[in-house]
Amino acid sequence: MSTYKLLLLPGDGIGPEVMAEVEKVVGWLGKTGLASFETEHGHVGGSAIDAHGKPLSDETLARADAADAILLGAVGGPKWNGIAYDLRPEAGLLRLRKDLGLFANLRPAICYPALADASALKRELVEGLDIMIVRELTGGVYFGEPKEITALPDGSKRAVDTQVYTTGEIERIAHVAFDLARKRSGRVASAEKNNVMKTGVLWKEVVTKVHAEHYADVELEHVLADNCAMQLVRRPKQFDVLVTDNLFGDVLSDVAAMLTGSLGMLPSASLGAVDARGTRKALYEPVHGSAPDIAGKGFANPIAMIGSLAMCLRYSFGLGEAADLVEGAITKALASGARTRDIAAEGQETISTAQMGDAILRELETARGV
Ligand code: NAD
Repeated sequence: MSTYKLLLLPGDGIGPEVMAEVEKVVGWLGKTGLASFETEHGHVGGSAIDAHGKPLSDETLARADAADAILLGAVGGPKWNGIAYDLRPEAGLLRLRKDLGLFANLRPAICYPALADASALKRELVEGLDIMIVRELTGGVYFGEPKEITALPDGSKRAVDTQVYTTGEIERIAHVAFDLARKRSGRVASAEKNNVMKTGVLWKEVVTKVHAEHYADVELEHVLADNCAMQLVRRPKQFDVLVTDNLFGDVLSDVAAMLTGSLGMLPSASLGAVDARGTRKALYEPVHGSAPDIAGKGFANPIAMIGSLAMCLRYSFGLGEAADLVEGAITKALASGARTRDIAAEGQETISTAQMGDAILRELETARGV
């Protein structure tokens, strides 16, 4: 069996707490022989600023480049709030995504039956929900130049961010969405704002062309991003694969997050282009941030992080059976009533981060008959 090199970057706040639970699952997979890993640890974000004076050292970047996959916890926190913009913790994560060319961000929003009542919407609207948001991650307004704040003669200031997309950037993310749709229900919705943005006009044109030339078997619908936000809370189950740009993807995936009950439930994958060997750079991380309000208290839900490992098994290593086992164990732990604070109903008993990790491990062991 191949041994996969995993770089673990726990980061800040609750990052190390949820990463510790993933390490239990990684250890278990190795022990049972389902997968074999060589794990290394590194710093990113605030912890890297403390250790190396910058949010991502060149050495950590080189190790990330050499790894088969990267698992990241979360970055940021009030401790580093006053720091220069280019040195803030988030800059480390942005550099990782940009330098490794991780242009495709996959964010599944799944509503587990046991959690349908934890959603902000009525049970019938979300029960069985399974959306895959495909967000473009290395272009658009977060990276476009100019990006600056300049002083004006009257003493006020002017801030500029630039939304920019090229045909190639849109084509490659469209391919990712259509390919995924073929493995799911065969439907893609593409969200932009072609009514007011030139990037939206080009986005729609390119997605339409890629669809017509390569994916006639997939159903394509265009939706304006603002209407998409409304539809996500009105009738979310109408969507299957939803492809959109960096900024709209950031916002729409957080809307989808609340449909599932908690940010603590959502994993994500960030993928690069497939290389000549058929492999691709990949980083897996929960959608949530470092949650400084609950850090160090044992309240964090580790499911988004453990779900990110399951995505890693599936998308980087082709270990579908192991991924199914991990996802199944999460479903069963929830069905058995295991709840961290963020997903508990009023009055329901809650367990800690480590206890949730242990509950998932127990379900894994039961599933393997250990
Ligand atoms: P956040 O996701 O950290 O927290 C939002 C809310 O969700 C908080 O109430 C938090 O307690 C709760 N929450 C988040 N994850 C949870 C979990 N696993 N279990 C239980 N509850 C959970 O977002 P924020 O408060 O806006 O940001 C805090 C810091 O995280 C900021 O510095 C921000 O820049 C950073 N951030 C980092 C990332 C990342 O690393 N990818 C993403 C978003 C925010």
